[in-house]
Amino acid sequence: MPPAPLPRSLYAETATPAIEAPPLYGEKQVPVAIIGGGFTGLSTALHLAERGIVATVIEANEPGWGASGRNGGQVNPGLKPDPDEVEHDHGAEMGGRMIAFSYGAPDLVFDLIRRHGIDCAASQTGTLRAGIRASNAQAAENLFAQCSRRGMPVRYLDAAACAEATGTTRYAGALLDPRGGHLNPLSYARGLARTAQRLGASIHGATPALSLTRHAARWRISTPKGSLIAERVVIGTNGYTDGLWPRLRQTVVPVFSTILATEPLPEEVQRQILPLRSAVYETGHITVYYRLDDAGRLLMGGRGPQNPADGPSMAPYLRDYAERLWPVLKGYGWTHGWNGQVAVTKDHYPHLHAPEPGLLMSLGYNGRGVAMATAMGSLLARHIAGEPLDSLPMPLSPIRPMPFHRFWKIGVTVAVAQRRLRDRFGL
Ligand SMILES: Cc1cc2nc3c(=O)[nH]c(=O)nc-3n(C[C@H](O)[C@H](O)[C@H](O)COP(=O)(O)OP(=O)(O)OC[C@H]3O[C@@H](n4cnc5c(N)ncnc54)[C@H](O)[C@@H]3O)c2cc1C
Repeated sequence: MPPAPLPRSLYAETATPAIEAPPLYGEKQVPVAIIGGGFTGLSTALHLAERGIVATVIEANEPGWGASGRNGGQVNPGLKPDPDEVEHDHGAEMGGRMIAFSYGAPDLVFDLIRRHGIDCAASQTGTLRAGIRASNAQAAENLFAQCSRRGMPVRYLDAAACAEATGTTRYAGALLDPRGGHLNPLSYARGLARTAQRLGASIHGATPALSLTRHAARWRISTPKGSLIAERVVIGTNGYTDGLWPRLRQTVVPVFSTILATEPLPEEVQRQILPLRSAVYETGHITVYYRLDDAGRLLMGGRGPQNPADGPSMAPYLRDYAERLWPVLKGYGWTHGWNGQVAVTKDHYPHLHAPEPGLLMSLGYNGRGVAMATAMGSLLARHIAGEPLDSLPMPLSPIRPMPFHRFWKIGVTVAVAQRRLRDRFGL
């Protein structure tokens, strides 16, 4: 299959230029091969390069083509399950490591950006987790208590403080975490790729891995015009996972998420919407997320069509919803719409697999991959450089396919319709 072009997203127009990433020709023997050129793969390559280990990344399309180049750009701290739940599920010791690691992930991202001078409109202006009804506000307050007990620099905002921070009275309470923020994700992906390349990594675009087989102590990856013989292999294909490794695809539900963007808004309107310029994600039955970018456009994300689609008319409910939150938006143009696939896991944790010697996989960030996929790349690099797997702050898990996986589209479509109604009518 020929490589697919980038989706017609806002980022395709505003991001820093793509790197040169020619296809792989011929056979190459390499110490580390990485399949997938998103944040997972590129961060692994960059962190390996910082340790003097040269990796070769192969990407079916172009670096940043997947979710990494299309997402909401929100750099969110933590895992989907709350800290108490993480400790309950994984025990105090491993749970504690996972909490410290995942809540520290945004700092890892912003430090990486600063250290390598990555030009990606990064702004560490906080993440707001905003609850739309009393029960969500209560959950935000509980999370605040759990995070405060662990010494994290978070704040709880009551309804009045939420209205000040977001310009709408929609929210009953929110958690503000100043470690979060936002960035232009395609510029970030390209910046990771450019930095990894500068430090010695090889990156090949238009190079899908067609098969992965073990030969004695090494792995052979065949591609349309060549092959890699590698001692270690990392798979970082997340919501775009194909049939390369048996049953891996069935471990995640590749839900489509949609983003619409407005034209740049006047300063005065921006101030009425998000004076703090934080990244916001709602907690209700459906997650809606939004932020202002560096040019003052509002980027509004949520559920939309469960097929590839683009254009500002692709998710009218997001636009209507934004205009309900801020009537001042009426009359401003919506210029872009696009979507991409997020990998959702059954237990809502990211999954790290090592099914055979020399083979690693990391996926399933449940919509939190800007920080977590970058951070997991740093872990994969630490392990490849010699740290034992059991000393890492994320546990290994077996590959467990979900039952009825092939019906995921029907399940997601029905669930979204029901939840949207419940959010609309405050049920
Ligand atoms: C619309 C949208 C909004 C989102 N918003 C946010 C947000 O605001 N904050 C947040 O934290 N997260 C968000 N996410 C999730 C986040 O983008 C992902 O978790 C993260 O980008 C995953 O990175 P990755 O490198 O693991 O996978 P991806 O970036 O999806 O990359 C996987 C790559 O693997 C390649 N590939 C697949 N199969 C093969 C093969 N056989 N050979 C070679 N290459 C292959 C694909 O072409 C693809 O480029 C969002 C996602 C979407 C789609």
